[in-house]
Amino acid sequence: MSARLYYDDPYVVEFVADVLAVAECDGRYEVLLDRTAFYPTSGGQPCDLGTLGSAEVVDVVERDGRVVHVLRSLEGLERGQTVRGRVDYGRRLDHMQQHLGQHLLSAAFEKVLDAETVGFHLGAETVTIDLALPWLTEHQADQVEDLANQIVIENRRVSSAWCSPQEASKLPLRRFPDRQGTLRVVIVHDFDYSPCCGTHPQSTGEVGIVKILGWERSRSGTRVSFLCGHRALRDYRWKNAALSALARGLSVAPADVPAAVMRQGEHLHSLSRRIEKLQAAAIEHEAARLLAESRAESPGRFPVIVARWFGDRELDEIKELAATIAARGGAVALFAAVGDGGVRAVFARSDGVGEDMNVLMKVIMASLDGKGGGTPALAQGGVRAGGLDMAQRIVSLALESLSSRP
Ligand SMILES: [Zn+2]
Repeated sequence: MSARLYYDDPYVVEFVADVLAVAECDGRYEVLLDRTAFYPTSGGQPCDLGTLGSAEVVDVVERDGRVVHVLRSLEGLERGQTVRGRVDYGRRLDHMQQHLGQHLLSAAFEKVLDAETVGFHLGAETVTIDLALPWLTEHQADQVEDLANQIVIENRRVSSAWCSPQEASKLPLRRFPDRQGTLRVVIVHDFDYSPCCGTHPQSTGEVGIVKILGWERSRSGTRVSFLCGHRALRDYRWKNAALSALARGLSVAPADVPAAVMRQGEHLHSLSRRIEKLQAAAIEHEAARLLAESRAESPGRFPVIVARWFGDRELDEIKELAATIAARGGAVALFAAVGDGGVRAVFARSDGVGEDMNVLMKVIMASLDGKGGGTPALAQGGVRAGGLDMAQRIVSLALESLSSRP
């Protein structure tokens, strides 16, 4: 079994070791050493990365109690050789900060809310714990966060000890381990005793800060996401920049951004309601004008036919205009407009008018390689290409088709 240097000293990131075994597996290489500072993925904490000699360590796993270093290429590494190992300290420190931060946060949840931590996940971006707690209020989260950060600021000593089950049973362990035998207990002086084989800094001050980001319901109760140390600083940095940009954009102080955004939302809502009303009035007015014009062009004709084409007009708008004209009775509306990467057409007729808009639309679209259809009273269609001349053509074809009928 290889000696694990990180148990006694989590700051050892350079070491020399003997290569005990090398094996090829699925195009990668697995290396066993007599001693290692590489932490294997376990207990919710991702593995360390780094190098063995000049070979890159791409994964570290634990198998049958042994630490297996996974390499993409051996770079000359062979059994019996002595090799220098280097652990990526930035990654290790990040994991140590998040991991000890988790101990502090979990202990604080237990002390403040009697809430047990039943899960922990340390991801590349987010860190979460699952609590056996139905829900959490803002005030409770603040209290827990305050306690965890108080322990950070007091810079308490963090140590670990190997204990027999008998020794462990005398300690105020936060949770009991699921395995038998000798236990490694991580102790935050006068605050928390937790069985754990992960890597932790030796003082709470190195965690920097513990910041809860949010929480959501999960299978076990509540999942809390949080960040510690440099991750929390980076998070603060971009959020501060985002809030500052919003404050500048809204010409308010950063603290007033939420209220200003609310006010803008309400203003937008009332504006869009006013626009809807104005649009409806404009459509009514336009419908009346178009009907009057068409009646003047062909006095006494039934139904009166309103045929128009438009450059760049929304489909919804010509649809509403056509429906408004049809609703006034005794009319047919034939519209086409350029927009949405092609030409759209809407045909509508009043109740009591015999023409079938669905049939008319299908026939015209088939002749133009377009698509369309609807009901006898209202149909819409379109062709992918073309401009104003195509819009005019669609309307002209519809007019011809209607006037050619008896
Ligand atoms: Zn731990």
